[in-house]
Amino acid sequence: MNIQDLIRPTIKALKPYSSARDEFQGNSDDMVFLDANENPFNNGVNRYPDPQQRTVKSLLSKIKNIPQKNILLGNGSDEVLDLIFRAFCEPNQDNIITLPPTYGMYSVLANINAIEIKSVQLDDSFQPKVDEILSIANANSKLLFLCSPNNPTGNSFEAQSIEKLITNFKGIVVIDEAYIDFSNAKSWASRLSEFPNLIVTQTLSKAYGMAGIRLGICYASAEIISVLNRIKPPYNVNELTQQKAILKLEQHELTQEQVSDILEERDALIGKLETVDFISKIYPSDANFILAKVDDATKRYNQLIEKGIVVRNRTTQPGCENCLRITIGTREENEKLIKILLLISKS
Ligand SMILES: *Cc1c(COP(=O)(O)O)cnc(C)c1O
Repeated sequence: MNIQDLIRPTIKALKPYSSARDEFQGNSDDMVFLDANENPFNNGVNRYPDPQQRTVKSLLSKIKNIPQKNILLGNGSDEVLDLIFRAFCEPNQDNIITLPPTYGMYSVLANINAIEIKSVQLDDSFQPKVDEILSIANANSKLLFLCSPNNPTGNSFEAQSIEKLITNFKGIVVIDEAYIDFSNAKSWASRLSEFPNLIVTQTLSKAYGMAGIRLGICYASAEIISVLNRIKPPYNVNELTQQKAILKLEQHELTQEQVSDILEERDALIGKLETVDFISKIYPSDANFILAKVDDATKRYNQLIEKGIVVRNRTTQPGCENCLRITIGTREENEKLIKILLLISKS
């Protein structure tokens, strides 16, 4: 498979913007920097940030055991996903494949970029229908999105199915691992060298507790990373975000402790949700949320709002009729949720 054949011609021909910090990379304190028209008076953010976010990447590289040349960072996964569209999908010509019910951004980005969406609904166990997916793909199918663990269903896809898709799909397979840190499954990022058409995305928004700083991560071959680097805005990850991310990644054990606390709370919450009589099914979760089937999702959603609790009503998603998606909160928040669910089940 030749990745170069999948890249849009305009992107291949592009001469990227070269920023002041790209042209001179040293950052020794005794240099005088008069190259970027910055204000010289120090306030912590008067200088442009590192366009390659080298300190953040070196920490991530150690934690995830992935070489820095295989990492690209963005303003949330949303920017990373948008860069992938713009690198590979020719507007009004190419298409992508999504597997609903899944994360809504893939089709929003496809629509923004004038890319056709082909979709194959997950089966009754929310697993991909591998043969059907491969049979609807054509020469213009550039991206296949696999979200595992999947949002809003919470389950991981079977490794065998994922591997068959990566091996047989003729475009790029993007595995969205936003929830991987809550799962026992191994990240597909550890297998990049086997699959030239694989992109794995992760984020600091969920397990790392940093949704507010907007830091998305992309792992791929050095060849794909260099294409995405050509089109990313030079300073796409701002200085404050880089500083916060560095502090957080330096305390990786704290993140791991919070993840185990959340998983313990999730399991306790599942036990209690089973005692609520209008909940008929709780789907298996590999993530920090639970999908639950109720008698009337819109009615229960509104009752919860009235009592001060906001969950996500997923009833309009294919295969999720009368389903609510509930994020795991703190112990106190989860106890309040159960108290109110039991209260409204009596009314
Ligand atoms: C929450 C979430 C993300 C995170 O996106 P950010 O832009 O990094 O905050 C990505 N993918 C899925 C499936 C998600 O649920």
